[in-house]
Amino acid sequence: MKKAAGRTGTRRRAPAKKLYRALFNAWGPQRWWPGRTRLEVIVGAVLTQNTAWGNVEKAIGRLRRADALSLPRLHALPLRQLEGLIRPAGYFRVKARRLRALTTMIVDRHGALPALFRLSTPDLRDELLRVNGVGPETADSILLYAAGRPAFVVDAYTRRFMTRHGWLAPKATYDETARALAGGLPRNVRLYNEFHALIVRLGKDCCRPRPLCGGCPLAPWLPRGGPRP
Ligand code: SF4
Repeated sequence: MKKAAGRTGTRRRAPAKKLYRALFNAWGPQRWWPGRTRLEVIVGAVLTQNTAWGNVEKAIGRLRRADALSLPRLHALPLRQLEGLIRPAGYFRVKARRLRALTTMIVDRHGALPALFRLSTPDLRDELLRVNGVGPETADSILLYAAGRPAFVVDAYTRRFMTRHGWLAPKATYDETARALAGGLPRNVRLYNEFHALIVRLGKDCCRPRPLCGGCPLAPWLPRGGPRP
Protein backbone atom coordinates (compact mmCIF):
# COMPACT_ATOMS: atom_id res chain seq x y z
CA MET A 1 0.00 0.00 0.00
CA LYS A 2 1.21 3.47 -0.84
CA LYS A 3 2.38 5.47 2.15
CA ALA A 4 -0.01 8.34 2.90
CA ALA A 5 1.32 11.87 2.92
CA GLY A 6 2.00 13.20 6.38
CA ARG A 7 -0.15 15.88 7.94
CA THR A 8 2.65 18.38 7.91
CA GLY A 9 5.36 17.03 5.65
CA THR A 10 6.04 17.06 1.97
CA ARG A 11 3.94 15.11 -0.53
CA ARG A 12 4.99 13.96 -3.98
CA ARG A 13 8.31 15.49 -4.95
CA ALA A 14 8.20 18.69 -6.96
CA PRO A 15 10.04 18.42 -10.30
CA ALA A 16 12.32 21.25 -9.24
CA LYS A 17 14.62 21.35 -12.27
CA LYS A 18 11.70 21.39 -14.70
CA LEU A 19 9.91 24.09 -12.74
CA TYR A 20 13.04 26.22 -12.69
CA ARG A 21 13.56 25.72 -16.41
CA ALA A 22 9.92 26.63 -17.18
CA LEU A 23 10.15 29.86 -15.17
CA PHE A 24 13.56 30.76 -16.57
CA ASN A 25 12.46 30.10 -20.16
CA ALA A 26 9.38 32.25 -19.66
CA TRP A 27 10.96 35.22 -17.90
CA GLY A 28 14.73 34.95 -18.27
CA PRO A 29 17.29 36.02 -15.69
CA GLN A 30 15.85 38.34 -13.05
CA ARG A 31 19.23 39.89 -12.12
CA TRP A 32 17.91 40.43 -8.65
CA TRP A 33 20.28 41.16 -5.82
CA PRO A 34 18.75 42.68 -2.72
CA GLY A 35 21.36 45.29 -1.78
CA ARG A 36 24.54 46.97 -2.98
CA THR A 37 26.71 45.68 -0.14
CA ARG A 38 26.67 42.77 2.27
CA LEU A 39 25.53 45.04 5.06
CA GLU A 40 22.67 46.36 2.92
CA VAL A 41 21.60 42.77 2.24
CA ILE A 42 21.58 42.06 5.97
CA VAL A 43 19.59 45.21 6.69
CA GLY A 44 17.19 44.40 3.84
CA ALA A 45 16.67 40.84 5.10
CA VAL A 46 15.39 42.21 8.41
CA LEU A 47 13.41 45.12 6.99
CA THR A 48 11.57 42.98 4.45
CA GLN A 49 9.83 40.98 7.16
CA ASN A 50 6.07 41.50 6.66
CA THR A 51 6.41 44.26 4.12
CA ALA A 52 6.81 44.81 0.38
CA TRP A 53 10.30 45.28 -1.01
CA GLY A 54 9.45 48.78 -2.25
CA ASN A 55 9.09 49.94 1.37
CA VAL A 56 12.43 48.36 2.23
CA GLU A 57 14.10 50.28 -0.60
CA LYS A 58 12.70 53.54 0.78
CA ALA A 59 14.05 52.74 4.26
CA ILE A 60 17.46 51.73 2.91
CA GLY A 61 17.56 54.93 0.84
CA ARG A 62 17.00 56.95 4.03
CA LEU A 63 19.76 55.04 5.83
CA ARG A 64 22.07 55.66 2.90
CA ARG A 65 21.34 59.39 2.83
CA ALA A 66 21.99 59.52 6.59
CA ASP A 67 25.36 57.85 5.91
CA ALA A 68 24.37 55.05 8.30
CA LEU A 69 25.15 52.07 6.07
CA SER A 70 28.43 51.02 7.58
CA LEU A 71 28.52 48.56 10.45
CA PRO A 72 30.10 50.94 13.03
CA ARG A 73 27.74 53.80 12.13
CA LEU A 74 24.63 51.63 12.03
CA HIS A 75 25.55 50.08 15.35
CA ALA A 76 26.22 53.45 16.99
CA LEU A 77 23.01 55.07 15.76
CA PRO A 78 20.67 55.94 18.65
CA LEU A 79 17.71 53.56 18.59
CA ARG A 80 15.18 56.39 18.21
CA GLN A 81 17.04 57.73 15.18
CA LEU A 82 17.25 54.25 13.67
CA GLU A 83 13.50 53.80 14.17
CA GLY A 84 12.84 57.09 12.38
CA LEU A 85 15.06 56.23 9.43
CA ILE A 86 13.51 52.81 8.82
CA ARG A 87 9.94 53.95 9.41
CA PRO A 88 8.83 53.35 5.77
CA ALA A 89 9.51 49.60 6.23
CA GLY A 90 6.76 49.30 8.87
CA TYR A 91 7.00 47.71 12.35
CA PHE A 92 9.90 50.11 12.70
CA ARG A 93 10.31 49.78 16.48
CA VAL A 94 10.53 45.98 16.34
CA LYS A 95 12.78 46.05 13.29
CA ALA A 96 15.10 48.64 14.82
CA ARG A 97 15.60 46.32 17.81
CA ARG A 98 16.21 43.37 15.52
CA LEU A 99 18.79 45.31 13.56
CA ARG A 100 20.43 46.39 16.79
CA ALA A 101 20.49 42.77 18.00
CA LEU A 102 22.15 41.73 14.74
CA THR A 103 24.79 44.45 14.75
CA THR A 104 25.47 43.73 18.43
CA MET A 105 26.07 40.06 17.66
CA ILE A 106 28.42 40.95 14.80
CA VAL A 107 30.35 43.67 16.65
CA ASP A 108 30.55 41.98 20.07
CA ARG A 109 31.22 38.41 18.97
CA HIS A 110 33.09 38.85 15.67
CA GLY A 111 34.24 42.44 15.42
CA ALA A 112 33.31 42.88 11.77
CA LEU A 113 31.54 41.22 8.87
CA PRO A 114 34.56 39.40 7.35
CA ALA A 115 35.08 37.47 10.60
CA LEU A 116 31.40 36.56 10.78
CA PHE A 117 31.47 35.32 7.20
CA ARG A 118 34.48 33.12 7.88
CA LEU A 119 32.23 30.77 9.86
CA SER A 120 31.18 27.53 8.19
CA THR A 121 27.70 27.58 6.67
CA PRO A 122 26.05 25.57 9.50
CA ASP A 123 27.80 27.64 12.18
CA LEU A 124 26.90 30.89 10.45
CA ARG A 125 23.26 29.82 10.15
CA ASP A 126 23.17 28.86 13.85
CA GLU A 127 24.79 32.16 14.81
CA LEU A 128 22.18 34.12 12.85
CA LEU A 129 19.29 32.08 14.19
CA ARG A 130 20.37 32.83 17.75
CA VAL A 131 19.68 36.53 17.17
CA ASN A 132 16.30 37.66 18.42
CA GLY A 133 13.93 38.18 15.49
CA VAL A 134 16.00 36.26 12.94
CA GLY A 135 14.07 33.26 11.65
CA PRO A 136 15.07 30.76 8.96
CA GLU A 137 13.94 32.92 6.03
CA THR A 138 15.95 35.92 7.23
CA ALA A 139 18.96 33.74 8.07
CA ASP A 140 18.90 32.00 4.68
CA SER A 141 18.52 35.32 2.84
CA ILE A 142 21.65 36.55 4.60
CA LEU A 143 23.45 33.28 3.89
CA LEU A 144 22.56 33.31 0.20
CA TYR A 145 22.76 36.98 -0.69
CA ALA A 146 25.31 38.38 1.76
CA ALA A 147 27.55 35.38 2.40
CA GLY A 148 27.19 33.67 -1.00
CA ARG A 149 26.33 30.30 0.52
CA PRO A 150 23.98 27.76 -1.10
CA ALA A 151 21.02 28.28 1.23
CA PHE A 152 17.60 27.93 -0.36
CA VAL A 153 15.31 30.78 0.71
CA VAL A 154 11.70 29.83 1.34
CA ASP A 155 9.10 32.58 1.47
CA ALA A 156 5.33 32.86 1.41
CA TYR A 157 5.31 32.75 -2.41
CA THR A 158 7.20 29.46 -2.36
CA ARG A 159 4.82 27.89 0.12
CA ARG A 160 1.79 29.13 -1.79
CA PHE A 161 2.60 27.65 -5.17
CA MET A 162 3.98 24.43 -3.70
CA THR A 163 0.81 23.87 -1.68
CA ARG A 164 -1.48 24.72 -4.58
CA HIS A 165 0.22 22.08 -6.69
CA GLY A 166 0.01 19.43 -3.99
CA TRP A 167 3.78 19.24 -3.49
CA LEU A 168 3.52 20.40 0.09
CA ALA A 169 1.15 19.81 2.96
CA PRO A 170 -0.44 23.07 4.16
CA LYS A 171 1.34 22.93 7.52
CA ALA A 172 4.76 21.91 6.26
CA THR A 173 7.67 23.43 8.13
CA TYR A 174 10.21 25.80 6.65
CA ASP A 175 12.84 23.07 6.39
CA GLU A 176 10.40 20.61 4.80
CA THR A 177 9.50 23.22 2.20
CA ALA A 178 13.14 23.98 1.43
CA ARG A 179 13.96 20.27 1.13
CA ALA A 180 10.93 19.62 -1.10
CA LEU A 181 12.25 22.06 -3.67
CA ALA A 182 16.01 22.31 -3.22
CA GLY A 183 16.30 18.53 -2.73
CA GLY A 184 15.91 18.15 -6.49
CA LEU A 185 18.53 20.75 -7.42
CA PRO A 186 22.31 20.98 -7.36
CA ARG A 187 23.55 23.10 -4.44
CA ASN A 188 24.50 26.20 -6.36
CA VAL A 189 24.42 29.81 -5.23
CA ARG A 190 23.56 31.32 -8.62
CA LEU A 191 20.83 28.77 -9.22
CA TYR A 192 19.28 29.31 -5.78
CA ASN A 193 19.46 33.07 -6.26
CA GLU A 194 17.81 32.96 -9.68
CA PHE A 195 15.18 30.44 -8.63
CA HIS A 196 14.16 32.51 -5.63
CA ALA A 197 13.91 35.65 -7.78
CA LEU A 198 11.78 33.75 -10.32
CA ILE A 199 9.50 32.48 -7.54
CA VAL A 200 9.05 36.05 -6.29
CA ARG A 201 8.02 37.03 -9.81
CA LEU A 202 5.69 34.02 -9.98
CA GLY A 203 4.03 35.12 -6.75
CA LYS A 204 3.60 38.68 -7.98
CA ASP A 205 2.54 38.03 -11.57
CA CYS A 206 0.60 34.76 -11.44
CA CYS A 207 0.35 32.91 -8.17
CA ARG A 208 -1.39 35.72 -6.32
CA PRO A 209 -3.92 35.29 -3.52
CA ARG A 210 -6.34 34.63 -6.40
CA PRO A 211 -4.23 32.56 -8.80
CA LEU A 212 -4.01 33.58 -12.45
CA CYS A 213 -3.23 30.16 -13.87
CA GLY A 214 -3.98 31.02 -17.50
CA GLY A 215 -0.60 31.72 -19.06
CA CYS A 216 1.34 30.82 -15.92
CA PRO A 217 4.57 28.94 -16.78
CA LEU A 218 3.72 26.32 -14.14
CA ALA A 219 0.20 25.62 -15.45
CA PRO A 220 1.30 22.30 -17.08
CA TRP A 221 1.91 20.94 -13.56
CA LEU A 222 -1.48 21.87 -12.14
CA PRO A 223 -3.21 19.02 -10.35
CA ARG A 224 -6.34 17.61 -11.90
CA GLY A 225 -9.20 19.90 -10.86
CA GLY A 226 -6.98 22.99 -10.58
CA PRO A 227 -5.02 24.54 -7.76
CA ARG A 228 -5.56 23.15 -4.28
CA PRO A 229 -6.92 25.51 -1.65
S1 SF4 B 1 -0.43 27.43 -12.36
FE1 SF4 B 1 -1.77 28.57 -10.96
S2 SF4 B 1 -1.46 27.62 -8.95
FE2 SF4 B 1 0.24 27.01 -10.26
S3 SF4 B 1 1.84 28.49 -9.85
FE3 SF4 B 1 0.71 29.21 -11.63
S4 SF4 B 1 -0.84 30.58 -10.78
FE4 SF4 B 1 -0.06 29.35 -9.09
